Amino acid sequence: MYLRMAKRVLFETDKRLLWKLAWNMGWKGMLSVQKHKKRLKKGEVFPPFLYVSIINSCNLRCQGCWVDVAAKQQTISPDALHKMIGEAKEMGNVFFGIVGGEPFMHPDLLDMLAEHPDCYFQIFTNGHVITDERAKRMRKLGNVTPLISVEGTEIISDERRGRGGVLSKTMEGIHNCLNNKVFTGVCTSLCRTNIDDLLTEQWVDRLIEMGVMYTWFHVYRPMGPLPNPDLCLTPEQSRKARQFVVDMRAKKPIIIVDAYFDGEGQALCPAATGISHHINPWGGIEPCPIVQFTTESIHSTEEDPRSLKEKFLQSAFLKDFRQLASDTTRGCIVLERPDLLRQLVEKHGAKDGTVRHTALAELEAMEVRTSQYAPGDEIPEKNIFYRLAKRYWFNDFGVYRGKDHTESAPSILANRKSATCGASNASAACDLPKEPVLVQIGQ
Ligand code: SF4
Repeated sequence: MYLRMAKRVLFETDKRLLWKLAWNMGWKGMLSVQKHKKRLKKGEVFPPFLYVSIINSCNLRCQGCWVDVAAKQQTISPDALHKMIGEAKEMGNVFFGIVGGEPFMHPDLLDMLAEHPDCYFQIFTNGHVITDERAKRMRKLGNVTPLISVEGTEIISDERRGRGGVLSKTMEGIHNCLNNKVFTGVCTSLCRTNIDDLLTEQWVDRLIEMGVMYTWFHVYRPMGPLPNPDLCLTPEQSRKARQFVVDMRAKKPIIIVDAYFDGEGQALCPAATGISHHINPWGGIEPCPIVQFTTESIHSTEEDPRSLKEKFLQSAFLKDFRQLASDTTRGCIVLERPDLLRQLVEKHGAKDGTVRHTALAELEAMEVRTSQYAPGDEIPEKNIFYRLAKRYWFNDFGVYRGKDHTESAPSILANRKSATCGASNASAACDLPKEPVLVQIGQ
Protein backbone atom coordinates (compact mmCIF):
# COMPACT_ATOMS: atom_id res chain seq x y z
CA MET A 1 0.00 0.00 0.00
CA TYR A 2 2.80 2.42 0.95
CA LEU A 3 4.49 1.80 -2.41
CA ARG A 4 1.23 2.28 -4.33
CA MET A 5 0.62 5.53 -2.45
CA ALA A 6 4.13 6.74 -3.24
CA LYS A 7 3.58 5.88 -6.93
CA ARG A 8 0.32 7.80 -7.00
CA VAL A 9 1.91 10.83 -5.41
CA LEU A 10 4.86 10.69 -7.81
CA PHE A 11 3.04 9.96 -11.07
CA GLU A 12 -0.46 11.39 -10.68
CA THR A 13 0.26 14.84 -9.31
CA ASP A 14 1.55 18.14 -10.62
CA LYS A 15 4.92 18.48 -8.88
CA ARG A 16 4.53 22.23 -8.34
CA LEU A 17 1.22 21.64 -6.56
CA LEU A 18 2.76 18.80 -4.60
CA TRP A 19 5.56 21.08 -3.48
CA LYS A 20 3.05 23.77 -2.40
CA LEU A 21 1.14 21.18 -0.41
CA ALA A 22 4.23 19.73 1.21
CA TRP A 23 5.73 23.13 2.04
CA ASN A 24 2.69 25.28 2.88
CA MET A 25 0.45 22.68 4.43
CA GLY A 26 2.92 20.00 5.51
CA TRP A 27 5.97 21.80 6.84
CA LYS A 28 4.51 25.23 7.72
CA GLY A 29 1.26 23.66 8.93
CA MET A 30 3.27 21.46 11.27
CA LEU A 31 5.14 24.52 12.57
CA SER A 32 1.82 26.29 13.20
CA VAL A 33 0.69 23.38 15.37
CA GLN A 34 4.02 23.48 17.24
CA LYS A 35 3.35 27.16 17.96
CA HIS A 36 -0.15 26.27 19.15
CA LYS A 37 1.33 23.68 21.53
CA LYS A 38 3.76 26.26 22.86
CA ARG A 39 0.95 28.78 23.43
CA LEU A 40 -1.12 26.15 25.21
CA LYS A 41 1.66 25.73 27.76
CA LYS A 42 1.19 29.42 28.61
CA GLY A 43 -2.58 28.96 28.76
CA GLU A 44 -3.09 30.85 25.49
CA VAL A 45 -5.34 29.62 22.69
CA PHE A 46 -5.15 30.91 19.14
CA PRO A 47 -6.35 28.13 16.82
CA PRO A 48 -3.87 27.21 14.07
CA PHE A 49 -6.69 25.98 11.83
CA LEU A 50 -9.41 28.54 11.19
CA TYR A 51 -12.55 27.65 9.26
CA VAL A 52 -14.11 30.64 7.55
CA SER A 53 -17.63 30.66 6.12
CA ILE A 54 -17.19 33.34 3.47
CA ILE A 55 -20.81 33.29 2.23
CA ASN A 56 -24.18 32.03 3.46
CA SER A 57 -25.78 31.43 0.04
CA CYS A 58 -25.89 28.06 -1.66
CA ASN A 59 -27.41 26.65 -4.85
CA LEU A 60 -28.57 23.50 -3.00
CA ARG A 61 -30.97 22.87 -0.12
CA CYS A 62 -29.47 19.94 1.79
CA GLN A 63 -31.36 18.08 4.52
CA GLY A 64 -30.28 19.17 7.97
CA CYS A 65 -28.25 22.18 6.80
CA TRP A 66 -27.74 24.72 9.59
CA VAL A 67 -26.77 27.64 7.34
CA ASP A 68 -29.46 30.16 6.34
CA VAL A 69 -28.78 29.61 2.64
CA ALA A 70 -32.04 31.17 1.43
CA ALA A 71 -31.63 34.36 3.47
CA LYS A 72 -30.24 37.61 2.09
CA GLN A 73 -26.72 37.03 0.85
CA GLN A 74 -23.91 37.89 3.25
CA THR A 75 -20.26 37.60 2.28
CA ILE A 76 -16.96 38.31 3.93
CA SER A 77 -15.41 41.12 1.92
CA PRO A 78 -11.93 40.75 0.39
CA ASP A 79 -10.58 43.47 2.71
CA ALA A 80 -11.95 41.77 5.81
CA LEU A 81 -10.61 38.39 4.72
CA HIS A 82 -7.15 39.78 3.95
CA LYS A 83 -7.01 41.52 7.30
CA MET A 84 -8.08 38.38 9.14
CA ILE A 85 -5.61 36.15 7.26
CA GLY A 86 -2.84 38.70 7.85
CA GLU A 87 -3.48 38.74 11.59
CA ALA A 88 -3.64 34.95 11.69
CA LYS A 89 -0.38 34.71 9.75
CA GLU A 90 1.27 36.83 12.42
CA MET A 91 0.40 34.03 14.83
CA GLY A 92 2.01 31.46 12.55
CA ASN A 93 -1.17 30.22 10.83
CA VAL A 94 -1.03 29.00 7.24
CA PHE A 95 -4.08 26.77 6.80
CA PHE A 96 -7.61 28.05 6.28
CA GLY A 97 -10.73 25.97 5.65
CA ILE A 98 -13.07 27.89 3.35
CA VAL A 99 -16.69 27.01 4.02
CA GLY A 100 -20.15 28.31 3.10
CA GLY A 101 -22.86 28.18 1.94
CA GLU A 102 -21.22 27.37 -1.33
CA PRO A 103 -17.85 29.19 -1.33
CA PHE A 104 -17.63 29.29 -5.13
CA MET A 105 -20.70 31.57 -5.14
CA HIS A 106 -18.48 34.27 -3.59
CA PRO A 107 -17.60 36.46 -6.58
CA ASP A 108 -14.04 37.08 -5.36
CA LEU A 109 -13.14 33.66 -3.99
CA LEU A 110 -10.10 32.73 -6.10
CA ASP A 111 -8.90 36.34 -6.40
CA MET A 112 -8.89 36.57 -2.60
CA LEU A 113 -6.93 33.35 -2.20
CA ALA A 114 -4.45 34.45 -4.87
CA GLU A 115 -3.32 37.22 -2.50
CA HIS A 116 -1.93 34.64 -0.07
CA PRO A 117 0.47 32.32 -1.93
CA ASP A 118 2.20 31.53 1.38
CA CYS A 119 -0.96 29.90 2.81
CA TYR A 120 -2.94 26.77 1.98
CA PHE A 121 -6.71 26.69 1.48
CA GLN A 122 -9.19 23.85 1.54
CA ILE A 123 -12.51 24.75 -0.08
CA PHE A 124 -15.58 22.78 1.05
CA THR A 125 -17.82 22.71 -2.03
CA ASN A 126 -20.56 20.81 -3.82
CA GLY A 127 -18.51 21.19 -7.00
CA HIS A 128 -21.38 22.45 -9.15
CA VAL A 129 -19.74 25.67 -10.21
CA ILE A 130 -16.24 24.30 -10.71
CA THR A 131 -15.86 24.83 -14.42
CA ASP A 132 -12.78 23.85 -16.41
CA GLU A 133 -11.73 27.50 -16.28
CA ARG A 134 -12.00 27.66 -12.47
CA ALA A 135 -10.11 24.37 -12.15
CA LYS A 136 -7.35 25.79 -14.35
CA ARG A 137 -7.18 28.82 -12.09
CA MET A 138 -6.88 26.60 -9.01
CA ARG A 139 -4.04 24.72 -10.63
CA LYS A 140 -2.33 27.99 -11.40
CA LEU A 141 -2.72 29.12 -7.79
CA GLY A 142 -1.36 25.82 -6.52
CA ASN A 143 -2.26 26.42 -2.88
CA VAL A 144 -5.91 25.41 -3.07
CA THR A 145 -7.55 22.03 -2.67
CA PRO A 146 -11.26 21.57 -3.29
CA LEU A 147 -13.02 19.08 -1.02
CA ILE A 148 -16.09 18.13 -3.04
CA SER A 149 -19.10 16.52 -1.38
CA VAL A 150 -20.81 13.45 -2.80
CA GLU A 151 -23.84 12.37 -0.84
CA GLY A 152 -24.87 9.11 -2.49
CA THR A 153 -26.25 7.62 -5.67
CA GLU A 154 -28.13 9.87 -8.09
CA ILE A 155 -31.45 9.26 -6.32
CA ILE A 156 -30.08 9.63 -2.79
CA SER A 157 -28.07 12.74 -3.75
CA ASP A 158 -31.18 14.41 -5.11
CA GLU A 159 -33.11 13.53 -1.97
CA ARG A 160 -30.33 14.66 0.38
CA ARG A 161 -29.62 17.88 -1.51
CA GLY A 162 -33.04 19.06 -2.45
CA ARG A 163 -33.07 19.07 -6.27
CA GLY A 164 -32.54 16.93 -9.36
CA GLY A 165 -29.33 16.11 -11.25
CA VAL A 166 -27.09 16.90 -8.29
CA LEU A 167 -24.68 13.98 -8.58
CA SER A 168 -23.87 14.39 -12.27
CA LYS A 169 -23.14 18.10 -11.75
CA THR A 170 -20.89 17.27 -8.80
CA MET A 171 -19.06 14.60 -10.81
CA GLU A 172 -18.53 17.13 -13.59
CA GLY A 173 -16.88 19.47 -11.08
CA ILE A 174 -14.67 16.65 -9.76
CA HIS A 175 -13.58 15.70 -13.28
CA ASN A 176 -12.79 19.30 -14.15
CA CYS A 177 -10.44 19.40 -11.15
CA LEU A 178 -8.87 16.04 -11.86
CA ASN A 179 -8.39 16.79 -15.56
CA ASN A 180 -6.39 19.81 -14.47
CA LYS A 181 -4.38 17.83 -11.91
CA VAL A 182 -5.71 19.86 -9.01
CA PHE A 183 -5.11 18.10 -5.68
CA THR A 184 -8.72 17.05 -5.09
CA GLY A 185 -10.63 15.46 -2.22
CA VAL A 186 -14.11 13.96 -2.02
CA CYS A 187 -16.11 13.95 1.18
CA THR A 188 -19.36 12.37 2.26
CA SER A 189 -21.65 13.10 5.14
CA LEU A 190 -22.57 9.54 6.08
CA CYS A 191 -26.17 8.88 6.97
CA ARG A 192 -28.58 5.97 6.94
CA THR A 193 -29.49 6.41 3.29
CA ASN A 194 -25.97 6.50 1.82
CA ILE A 195 -23.77 4.43 4.14
CA ASP A 196 -24.33 1.15 2.27
CA ASP A 197 -23.41 2.74 -1.06
CA LEU A 198 -20.45 4.88 -0.06
CA LEU A 199 -18.79 3.33 2.98
CA THR A 200 -17.48 0.58 0.73
CA GLU A 201 -14.17 -0.54 -0.75
CA GLN A 202 -15.73 -0.24 -4.21
CA TRP A 203 -16.36 3.46 -3.70
CA VAL A 204 -12.86 4.06 -2.35
CA ASP A 205 -11.42 2.11 -5.33
CA ARG A 206 -13.48 4.22 -7.69
CA LEU A 207 -12.13 7.41 -6.15
CA ILE A 208 -8.59 6.10 -6.55
CA GLU A 209 -9.22 5.14 -10.20
CA MET A 210 -10.58 8.61 -10.86
CA GLY A 211 -7.44 10.21 -9.42
CA VAL A 212 -8.91 11.58 -6.18
CA MET A 213 -6.07 11.96 -3.66
CA TYR A 214 -7.99 12.13 -0.40
CA THR A 215 -11.37 11.50 1.09
CA TRP A 216 -13.19 12.42 4.29
CA PHE A 217 -16.20 10.66 5.77
CA HIS A 218 -18.12 13.14 7.92
CA VAL A 219 -21.20 11.89 9.69
CA TYR A 220 -24.64 13.47 9.39
CA ARG A 221 -25.52 15.80 12.28
CA PRO A 222 -29.16 16.57 13.11
CA MET A 223 -28.72 20.32 13.42
CA GLY A 224 -30.39 23.50 12.23
CA PRO A 225 -34.04 24.53 11.92
CA LEU A 226 -35.06 21.23 10.28
CA PRO A 227 -32.93 18.51 11.82
CA ASN A 228 -33.70 15.02 10.57
CA PRO A 229 -32.65 12.59 13.31
CA ASP A 230 -33.94 9.65 11.25
CA LEU A 231 -30.90 10.07 9.04
CA CYS A 232 -28.44 9.59 11.93
CA LEU A 233 -26.33 6.48 11.97
CA THR A 234 -27.09 3.71 14.46
CA PRO A 235 -24.40 2.89 17.06
CA GLU A 236 -23.34 -0.13 14.99
CA GLN A 237 -23.08 1.96 11.82
CA SER A 238 -20.99 4.58 13.61
CA ARG A 239 -18.56 1.97 14.84
CA LYS A 240 -18.45 0.46 11.36
CA ALA A 241 -17.55 3.88 9.92
CA ARG A 242 -14.63 4.33 12.31
CA GLN A 243 -13.38 0.77 11.69
CA PHE A 244 -13.68 1.27 7.93
CA VAL A 245 -11.56 4.43 8.03
CA VAL A 246 -8.85 2.73 10.09
CA ASP A 247 -8.84 -0.36 7.84
CA MET A 248 -8.79 1.57 4.56
CA ARG A 249 -5.93 3.76 5.76
CA ALA A 250 -3.86 0.61 6.11
CA LYS A 251 -5.02 -0.86 2.81
CA LYS A 252 -5.74 1.71 0.08
CA PRO A 253 -3.44 4.23 -1.61
CA ILE A 254 -5.56 7.25 -0.75
CA ILE A 255 -5.37 9.69 2.17
CA ILE A 256 -8.35 9.51 4.51
CA VAL A 257 -8.89 12.56 6.69
CA ASP A 258 -10.66 12.65 10.03
CA ALA A 259 -10.79 15.27 12.74
CA TYR A 260 -12.28 13.50 15.74
CA PHE A 261 -9.87 10.78 16.85
CA ASP A 262 -6.27 10.66 18.05
CA GLY A 263 -3.81 7.96 17.01
CA GLU A 264 -4.94 5.66 19.80
CA GLY A 265 -8.55 5.97 18.64
CA GLN A 266 -9.60 8.18 21.54
CA ALA A 267 -12.30 10.68 20.65
CA LEU A 268 -11.68 14.43 20.76
CA CYS A 269 -13.39 17.67 19.83
CA PRO A 270 -11.21 20.07 17.77
CA ALA A 271 -12.99 23.09 19.26
CA ALA A 272 -12.42 21.83 22.82
CA THR A 273 -8.72 21.28 22.13
CA GLY A 274 -8.55 24.76 20.60
CA ILE A 275 -6.98 23.53 17.36
CA SER A 276 -9.80 25.05 15.34
CA HIS A 277 -12.58 27.60 15.61
CA HIS A 278 -14.97 29.09 13.06
CA ILE A 279 -15.77 32.49 11.59
CA ASN A 280 -19.25 33.09 10.17
CA PRO A 281 -20.09 35.23 7.09
CA TRP A 282 -20.83 38.24 9.33
CA GLY A 283 -17.37 37.92 10.86
CA GLY A 284 -18.63 36.45 14.14
CA ILE A 285 -16.13 34.18 15.87
CA GLU A 286 -17.77 30.88 16.86
CA PRO A 287 -16.39 27.77 18.60
CA CYS A 288 -17.23 25.65 15.54
CA PRO A 289 -19.63 25.77 12.56
CA ILE A 290 -22.53 24.13 14.41
CA VAL A 291 -22.18 26.23 17.57
CA GLN A 292 -23.75 29.32 16.06
CA PHE A 293 -23.13 31.74 18.92
CA THR A 294 -20.61 34.51 19.14
CA THR A 295 -19.32 37.20 21.46
CA GLU A 296 -16.52 38.59 19.27
CA SER A 297 -16.08 39.53 15.63
CA ILE A 298 -13.09 39.65 13.28
CA HIS A 299 -14.18 43.17 12.36
CA SER A 300 -12.76 46.10 14.30
CA THR A 301 -15.32 48.51 15.64
CA GLU A 302 -15.20 51.56 17.89
CA GLU A 303 -16.57 49.44 20.74
CA ASP A 304 -14.07 46.66 20.13
CA PRO A 305 -10.90 47.74 18.31
CA ARG A 306 -8.85 44.80 19.64
CA SER A 307 -6.65 42.71 17.35
CA LEU A 308 -7.64 39.19 16.32
CA LYS A 309 -4.98 37.85 18.67
CA GLU A 310 -6.41 39.76 21.61
CA LYS A 311 -9.94 38.65 20.79
CA PHE A 312 -9.03 34.96 20.69
CA LEU A 313 -6.77 35.12 23.73
CA GLN A 314 -9.18 37.17 25.83
CA SER A 315 -12.55 35.70 24.82
CA ALA A 316 -14.26 34.48 27.99
CA PHE A 317 -16.95 32.76 25.92
CA LEU A 318 -14.50 30.69 23.87
CA LYS A 319 -12.46 29.89 26.98
CA ASP A 320 -15.53 28.74 28.91
CA PHE A 321 -16.76 26.79 25.89
CA ARG A 322 -13.49 24.85 25.68
CA GLN A 323 -13.55 24.28 29.44
CA LEU A 324 -17.15 23.06 29.48
CA ALA A 325 -16.68 20.86 26.40
CA SER A 326 -13.50 19.23 27.71
CA ASP A 327 -14.87 18.83 31.25
CA THR A 328 -18.05 17.17 29.99
CA THR A 329 -16.99 14.75 27.27
CA ARG A 330 -14.31 13.72 24.80
CA GLY A 331 -17.11 13.80 22.21
CA CYS A 332 -19.36 16.57 20.97
CA ILE A 333 -20.86 18.84 23.65
CA VAL A 334 -23.55 20.04 21.23
CA LEU A 335 -24.92 16.58 20.65
CA GLU A 336 -24.26 15.14 24.08
CA ARG A 337 -25.20 18.03 26.39
CA PRO A 338 -27.09 20.74 24.48
CA ASP A 339 -28.60 21.77 27.85
CA LEU A 340 -25.18 22.70 29.28
CA LEU A 341 -24.25 24.53 26.10
CA ARG A 342 -27.48 26.52 26.27
CA GLN A 343 -26.69 27.56 29.85
CA LEU A 344 -23.23 28.68 28.74
CA VAL A 345 -24.65 30.74 25.88
CA GLU A 346 -27.12 32.40 28.24
CA LYS A 347 -24.46 33.08 30.87
CA HIS A 348 -22.31 34.93 28.33
CA GLY A 349 -25.22 36.57 26.53
CA ALA A 350 -23.67 35.25 23.32
CA LYS A 351 -25.29 36.53 20.15
CA ASP A 352 -27.22 34.12 17.92
CA GLY A 353 -25.06 33.96 14.78
CA THR A 354 -27.92 32.91 12.50
CA VAL A 355 -30.34 34.95 10.39
CA ARG A 356 -33.27 32.92 11.65
CA HIS A 357 -32.46 33.73 15.31
CA THR A 358 -33.70 30.40 16.57
CA ALA A 359 -30.38 28.76 17.43
CA LEU A 360 -31.10 28.85 21.19
CA ALA A 361 -34.56 27.32 20.73
CA GLU A 362 -33.00 24.65 18.50
CA LEU A 363 -30.56 23.78 21.29
CA GLU A 364 -33.43 23.64 23.73
CA ALA A 365 -35.27 21.14 21.53
CA MET A 366 -32.30 18.79 21.32
CA GLU A 367 -31.96 15.67 23.44
CA VAL A 368 -28.95 13.94 24.93
CA ARG A 369 -27.40 12.01 22.06
CA THR A 370 -24.19 10.05 21.85
CA SER A 371 -21.41 11.30 19.58
CA GLN A 372 -17.91 10.12 18.65
CA TYR A 373 -17.10 9.35 22.31
CA ALA A 374 -17.35 5.59 22.88
CA PRO A 375 -15.33 4.90 26.06
CA GLY A 376 -13.83 1.42 26.13
CA ASP A 377 -14.38 0.91 22.41
CA GLU A 378 -11.46 2.88 20.96
CA ILE A 379 -10.16 1.74 17.57
CA PRO A 380 -6.47 2.71 17.26
CA GLU A 381 -4.83 3.56 13.95
CA LYS A 382 -3.26 0.61 12.15
CA ASN A 383 -1.28 2.76 9.73
CA ILE A 384 1.95 3.85 11.38
CA PHE A 385 2.07 7.20 9.52
CA TYR A 386 -1.32 8.31 10.81
CA ARG A 387 -0.46 7.06 14.27
CA LEU A 388 2.80 9.00 14.42
CA ALA A 389 1.45 12.15 12.77
CA LYS A 390 -1.45 12.25 15.20
CA ARG A 391 0.82 11.62 18.18
CA TYR A 392 2.75 14.80 17.40
CA TRP A 393 0.35 17.11 15.60
CA PHE A 394 -3.22 16.01 16.07
CA ASN A 395 -4.28 14.87 19.49
CA ASP A 396 -6.07 16.23 22.54
CA PHE A 397 -3.02 18.24 23.70
CA GLY A 398 -3.79 17.15 27.26
CA VAL A 399 -7.07 19.06 27.60
CA TYR A 400 -8.94 15.99 28.91
CA ARG A 401 -6.30 15.02 31.48
CA GLY A 402 -7.78 14.14 34.88
CA LYS A 403 -11.41 14.55 33.76
CA ASP A 404 -13.87 11.74 34.49
CA HIS A 405 -16.63 12.67 32.01
CA THR A 406 -19.40 11.31 34.18
CA GLU A 407 -21.70 13.98 32.69
CA SER A 408 -21.17 12.74 29.14
CA ALA A 409 -23.89 11.08 27.07
CA PRO A 410 -22.50 7.53 27.40
CA SER A 411 -22.57 7.83 31.23
CA ILE A 412 -26.00 9.43 31.32
CA LEU A 413 -27.52 6.89 28.96
CA ALA A 414 -25.94 4.00 30.86
CA ASN A 415 -27.32 5.39 34.14
CA ARG A 416 -30.74 5.83 32.58
CA LYS A 417 -30.63 2.27 31.38
CA SER A 418 -29.76 0.82 34.77
CA ALA A 419 -32.38 3.03 36.49
CA THR A 420 -35.05 1.84 34.03
CA CYS A 421 -34.08 -1.80 33.92
CA GLY A 422 -32.69 -2.54 37.38
CA ALA A 423 -30.28 -5.39 37.98
CA SER A 424 -32.68 -8.26 37.42
CA ASN A 425 -34.72 -7.17 34.41
CA ALA A 426 -33.05 -8.11 31.16
CA SER A 427 -35.90 -7.43 28.76
CA ALA A 428 -35.29 -6.42 25.16
CA ALA A 429 -36.20 -2.82 26.05
CA CYS A 430 -33.17 -2.77 28.34
CA ASP A 431 -30.60 -3.58 25.69
CA LEU A 432 -28.17 -0.87 24.61
CA PRO A 433 -29.82 2.52 23.87
CA LYS A 434 -31.51 2.49 20.50
CA GLU A 435 -31.16 6.21 19.88
CA PRO A 436 -29.24 6.87 16.74
CA VAL A 437 -25.75 8.02 17.64
CA LEU A 438 -23.45 10.22 15.73
CA VAL A 439 -19.78 9.66 15.24
CA GLN A 440 -18.43 12.73 13.52
CA ILE A 441 -15.31 12.40 11.48
CA GLY A 442 -15.27 15.92 10.07
CA GLN A 443 -16.23 19.65 10.45
S1 SF4 B 1 -17.22 17.77 18.26
FE1 SF4 B 1 -19.07 19.06 18.22
S2 SF4 B 1 -18.46 20.93 19.30
FE2 SF4 B 1 -16.58 19.86 18.73
S3 SF4 B 1 -15.96 20.76 16.77
FE3 SF4 B 1 -17.21 18.96 16.33
S4 SF4 B 1 -19.31 19.69 16.09
FE4 SF4 B 1 -18.13 21.30 17.11
